[in-house]
Amino acid sequence: MSNLPNSLNDVSSDNLRANCDECFGLCCIALSFSASEGFPTDKKAGEPCINLKSNYRCGIHESLGKRGLKGCIAFECFGAGQKVSQISFDGQDWRKSPDSANRMFKVFIIMMKLHELLWYLTETLTLPPAQSILGELRSKLEETERLTYLKPDSLLELDVGAHQASVNTLLLKVSELVRYEARNKQKVRSGQKTRKTIGRGADLIGTDLRKMDLRGANLRGAYLIAADLSGVDLGGTDFIGADFRDANLRGADLSKSIFLTQAQLNAAKGDSRTKVPPLLKQPAHWHSTNGIH
Ligand code: SF4
Repeated sequence: MSNLPNSLNDVSSDNLRANCDECFGLCCIALSFSASEGFPTDKKAGEPCINLKSNYRCGIHESLGKRGLKGCIAFECFGAGQKVSQISFDGQDWRKSPDSANRMFKVFIIMMKLHELLWYLTETLTLPPAQSILGELRSKLEETERLTYLKPDSLLELDVGAHQASVNTLLLKVSELVRYEARNKQKVRSGQKTRKTIGRGADLIGTDLRKMDLRGANLRGAYLIAADLSGVDLGGTDFIGADFRDANLRGADLSKSIFLTQAQLNAAKGDSRTKVPPLLKQPAHWHSTNGIH
């Protein structure tokens, strides 16, 4: 057993990142995926990937970039894999107890959704404009974490959609507060009224956004596939659920963007000049000459 959290007080962003050493390869088995999304083959949920080794490590990990397997490179389970393997199922390897295998894979999918919510709620606690609703945020974080410690049968019965909706109500409040502050700063700096330009769910595939002022914008669920955001200041921009595949973030400033995930950054193109939020890291492949660029 590892240094995994076992109380309501030890949620930290470190526990919300994948720890493959403590996981029974769940993401490479439980999920369905397709070759067209940057995975090695088309595969159904519950079937192990052809490249998964008996020790639950990826047999081609070192060459994922060279093979163009962008789906594998971008994926992040938010620490759900180790939680399900070591806590929900108490370290019992699904290969040694095949009866529990299917339940474990289904629980993993539910846990990923809960851990993603924990990720966003943890971030809200670090945002100064959200301090006015800190009590509500802490309480929702604790409630969500408590759910992650339910027994597998209870997790399988959980109405995750209803819980996601209740968390989203709070995340929207935080988004309003953060974006309001960012837009106000923008007005003071430019001396002009903010121009409403693009917003939630926008289709910006392949668009050159370098000349747009996107500070404080609502880009929830936006399609930013192959969009050019190089050198853009994205302070206070809400990116929850935005699709960043092949977006150009070279030299962009995302240090004060909100609701970004490591998977989104992993899917994008960046470089050493790209500023990322404090809880995230520049992906290694941004610095690699043999990577997926
Ligand atoms: S190629 Fe490797 S990382 Fe990708 S799904 Fe298969 S085992 Fe997992």
